[in-house]
Amino acid sequence: MPEPRTVALVTLGCARNEVDSEELAGRLAADGWQLVDDASEADVAVVNTCGFVDAAKKDSVDALLEANDLKAHGRTQAVVAVGCMAERYGKDLAEALPEADGVLGFDDYADISDRLQTILSGGVHAPHTPRDRRKLLPISPAERQTAAGVALPGHGQGTDAASGAANGDAEGAGDGALDFAEAPADLPDGLAPASGPRAPLRRRLDSGPVASVKLASGCDRRCTFCAIPSFRGSFISRRPSDVLGETRWLAEQGVREVMLVSENNTSYGKDLGDIRLLETLLPELAAVDGIARVRVSYLQPAEMRPGLIDVLTSTPGVVPYFDLSFQHSAPGVLRAMRRFGDTDRFLDLLDTIRGKAPEAGVRSNFIVGFPGETEDDLAELERFLTSARLDAIGVFGYSDEEGTEAATYENKLDDDVVAARLARVSRLAEELTAQRAEERVGSTVRVLVEAVDEETGEVTGRADHQAPETDGQVVLTDAGGWWEPAPGMFVTARVTGTEGVDLIAEPLAVDEADPDAAGRDDGRNEPGAAGRGAAATVRGGVPGGALLTSVPGAPAGADGAPEGAEAVAR
Ligand code: SF4
Repeated sequence: MPEPRTVALVTLGCARNEVDSEELAGRLAADGWQLVDDASEADVAVVNTCGFVDAAKKDSVDALLEANDLKAHGRTQAVVAVGCMAERYGKDLAEALPEADGVLGFDDYADISDRLQTILSGGVHAPHTPRDRRKLLPISPAERQTAAGVALPGHGQGTDAASGAANGDAEGAGDGALDFAEAPADLPDGLAPASGPRAPLRRRLDSGPVASVKLASGCDRRCTFCAIPSFRGSFISRRPSDVLGETRWLAEQGVREVMLVSENNTSYGKDLGDIRLLETLLPELAAVDGIARVRVSYLQPAEMRPGLIDVLTSTPGVVPYFDLSFQHSAPGVLRAMRRFGDTDRFLDLLDTIRGKAPEAGVRSNFIVGFPGETEDDLAELERFLTSARLDAIGVFGYSDEEGTEAATYENKLDDDVVAARLARVSRLAEELTAQRAEERVGSTVRVLVEAVDEETGEVTGRADHQAPETDGQVVLTDAGGWWEPAPGMFVTARVTGTEGVDLIAEPLAVDEADPDAAGRDDGRNEPGAAGRGAAATVRGGVPGGALLTSVPGAPAGADGAPEGAEAVAR
């Protein structure tokens, strides 16, 4: 029997890319490829690149070169670039980087298995000529759901997307709609839900309790510094039934928290005839069995609305977390970016949010050194940052992105001025986010345990206000003895200290709404005060049983935040 073909997926960039990688993994596994973690054990190393800013592109090229080095020593025979940089540069990347044996665009994703097989067999797959993907979908959002043949990574489309085959759906589009995958009856374990005809074709690439789900793709906004819409295309929502189906499947895989991702979640539903669709979808997602935390990322400040703030701050299981990329707060700079708002309007928005959920987490990204930015503009941004009490701040120095409007502006600042402003605002951001973390000392937080270090025993997780990757974390102290920490457990903890944006917290109770904890019956989660059948397990001798919670999403007391340097400015 021939050895199975092996493939490794190396993912760079943001959570959206992670979803795309898992969809590619699902397609490859369904076609018999064996997925391996270590690229040196793979016949083909697929690098899912990021094409957003120069630093991200450099990381992607480095990853491709590193994978190429494996060809000299190990099993690896081919290196293939996919993802945003591959889509954005296509044949130009292939010419500039002959070390990559293949450069595949989004249109190749549905046939990824065939493409890799061709490349592995020594064949050549002609790289695509990059095109503006905004032109692929109709200008009118209402007509987009019925457009056929547009590849949408992470939407779980079937392999016959180009056919535009009808797949009627009461909640979404009608005939000729984008074709979503039907789960083959004989998919191996871990590839498809146990039930449901319109399953996501996705394979998890890690076993952690957190996973992202694509809510939509693309963006209709025209921020002058941003190239994303040109290669991710116009905004298009996934149908609610697909988002729900994928979330149920993830819950069956052991996921406890889902994070909804897209380029702009506030626009969700606008092409499905209901701009408030997110408000109705969120409670349904939070009600999925096994899912104890739903988080929404990428909210556009200009599109925030009272009803959405209400749902985000009052729905059990949905965390009051606001990922609002303000980008700047000086009105002149914002207008030059083709964005809206100013310092006072942004502060009002934050007041509204905190009036409803004082413990809400807020993160944001900013660009400094934008063309025409004056010293007064920078001081205005500093005034905003100093008042905003943000948990996590990402700061980026402006650099030209080809194809963007801002790249054509004439009033550019010198590189050393941009660098100095970046250093100045980054220092301030670090100070302010550390202060914000300190404000949370003494409060209680609800922590999802994500890692238990086998050697040191250190237990880390995240509170409601902390998103994966970009924000801070919680380090739980006193992790031994009365409870047995494991990834996927929810713990109520009191914040006792900080380390920068990270929180140090003392566990008080294990939330038995967690199926992992509830199934355990060895007495280790039952110190003193609470016996079997209690709503939650209490740490013995800790006063104040009122701290306990077994309700997913019940308000937690504390939050924290990181430098956010990995975040991508949108
Ligand atoms: S910065 Fe964000 S909102 Fe603006 S065009 Fe880019 S993706 Fe869209």
